[in-house]
Amino acid sequence: MTSARRTPVVIVGGGQSGLAAGYHLRRLGVDFVILDAQSTPGGAWQHTWDSLHLFSPAAFSSLPGRLMPPQAGQEYPDAGHVVAYLRDYGKRYELPIERPVRVSGVHRESGLLRVETDSGTWHTEAVISATGTWWRPFLPAVSGRADFGGQQLHTVAYRRPQDFTGRRVVVVGGGNSGAQIAADLAYDTQLTWVTQRPPLYLADDIDGRALFDAASARRRALDEGRTDTGGVASLGDIVAVPPVREARDRGLLKAAPMFSRLVPGGVEWADGTRAEADTVIWCTGFRPALSHLAPLELRGRRGHIATTGTRAVDEPRLHLLGYGDWTGPASATLIGVGRPAREAARDIASLLA
Ligand code: FAD
Repeated sequence: MTSARRTPVVIVGGGQSGLAAGYHLRRLGVDFVILDAQSTPGGAWQHTWDSLHLFSPAAFSSLPGRLMPPQAGQEYPDAGHVVAYLRDYGKRYELPIERPVRVSGVHRESGLLRVETDSGTWHTEAVISATGTWWRPFLPAVSGRADFGGQQLHTVAYRRPQDFTGRRVVVVGGGNSGAQIAADLAYDTQLTWVTQRPPLYLADDIDGRALFDAASARRRALDEGRTDTGGVASLGDIVAVPPVREARDRGLLKAAPMFSRLVPGGVEWADGTRAEADTVIWCTGFRPALSHLAPLELRGRRGHIATTGTRAVDEPRLHLLGYGDWTGPASATLIGVGRPAREAARDIASLLA
């Protein structure tokens, strides 16, 4: 049996958010450990579909301290390049990462926080939760889902179009995942792409850099008491990355409105029209993976943990990092997580002092 260990700060999650937090804690001279459930570095980037490319060039996808190097022949690097960058980042800054270690619960105990894992217990004065969203796929409640006789999968299980060649596939979702997977499948399957509202593409000449700028501008406006600029949502839902643009321009990405229910052989719209389907792919998003924080009982009525910046309002020893705009503008992006990570690290350093 492993005895309990003690460290000033535990970072839960060793993806990009956990690494950025580690970088800043190290700079402030604060000791910490990163506990990561994956056996290998790279967080969620290890599990995405084969054709996924970043929506920003490498130089605009960097964590604090080290620019992401460009990928030869690719303006927008692929997920494998991001994994290599994250692996190198952890090594370069000698971040103390323990893996695979899954945190099952964070508890209050005698003035400290007790972190329970499948590899023993840590006692600590502060926790940064950086567990991402990939691990909690969201499926909407749609009538008839249990009646459908074909295959259903979420974005997290999609890998490559060859797995569906010749099949009748319905892709659900008008965000980036939906558009990219629909574009992937547009050539060799009988594709039906359904979206809740007509697809809203960002202008072809703007990419993830504009998303970051919009999120930052919104944060500044709100902080300064000015009118809400609308942030990222004001630009559109879909970054027109080259494969999406190509499929769209060839007329292969025609979106139908959302169907009203699933039937045994496919999907059906309110007027009775049907599309036969072998497979339905739900590109319907994610929720923050926060079950390890349940023992702290911080969730409000709608399941949300209230934060000021990254700090939990009702537990100042806990910071939440990288889940979305509610934990810092664009904090769920490579370039955007650096700033909230720095704020979390500074806040914890003063708490420990
Ligand atoms: P993750 O990468 O999910 O890392 C979290 C880590 O925590 C994982 O290793 C996980 O195993 C671990 N973990 C989870 N639970 C526990 C636990 N209980 N105990 C211990 N460890 C745990 N961003 C960009 O900047 N550019 C893009 O082009 C871009 N494209 C994206 C495309 C897709 C399809 C998606 C889903 C996201 C994209 N993002 C992009 C957003 C974002 O950069 C990624 O989601 C990124 O993976 C988030 O990093 P993270 O460290 O917060 O979470």
